[in-house]
Amino acid sequence: MNDATLTVEGLTVHYGGVCAVRDLSFSVPAGEAVGVIGANGAGKTSTLKAVMGLIPRRITALRFGDTDLTGVAARHMVRHGIGYVPEGRHVFAGLSVERNLLLGAYARKWNAETRATLAEVYELFPVLGEMHDRLAGALSGGQQQMLAIGRALMSKPRLLLLDEPSMGLSPKLVEDILAVLQRLRADGLSLLLVEQNAKLTFEATSTCLVVENGEAAMTGASARLRHDPQVRRIYLGL
Ligand code: ATP
Repeated sequence: MNDATLTVEGLTVHYGGVCAVRDLSFSVPAGEAVGVIGANGAGKTSTLKAVMGLIPRRITALRFGDTDLTGVAARHMVRHGIGYVPEGRHVFAGLSVERNLLLGAYARKWNAETRATLAEVYELFPVLGEMHDRLAGALSGGQQQMLAIGRALMSKPRLLLLDEPSMGLSPKLVEDILAVLQRLRADGLSLLLVEQNAKLTFEATSTCLVVENGEAAMTGASARLRHDPQVRRIYLGL
């Protein structure tokens, strides 16, 4: 059962003299999907990377359920049930689709359970099953995005962090990604979704955080924010 809430308190990120994230606090309740939206350069990617421990940051508290994650290195996050789908996919182009997926299970033993997870990923993304022996670099952008998500799922996370999964995809593929996120959520996975595509985010999440210049400008129910005149004007261009 997924009963762990991610709690982030007082997150601050500096790049030299530039403050990219300033004293940000939010939580991802167990089984919920939370979105982070904001303009280019608002600090969304930095927020995800900092939660994962991939970049230097200051943080007052970082907990997942009862576990204190403040000192946990990025490569060990996966052992605590946190999966990460980076911006730009970063699949291993010279390895087969299946090798890429197996790398996602690096922290697990290869046994019946891992094989079952692989079967689940192929069930979720039939195209990956059909192309399991192709080189990842030969896949289309949309297929590579599916592979990046599938690879993260191979660790059996309880919380998945996704950085701009819709980037560069056609409207049809964005709909496919939305359907996948909704299914993962229905299966009990918690999601933290960073996106420029506000429409996708509002549909995929229950709560949204709007960031501006690294600070929380607004936070609330996605169903309410999507009708907020200011949000519609700035983020939906309406
Ligand atoms: P986008 O939607 O364009 O990806 P974002 O909301 O994810 O933007 P970040 O990538 O987190 O924003 O960037 C936040 C701020 O930090 C920006 O001003 C950006 O220029 C700056 N920044 C990001 N990465 C670096 C870096 N490696 N070195 C210096 N400044 C950086």
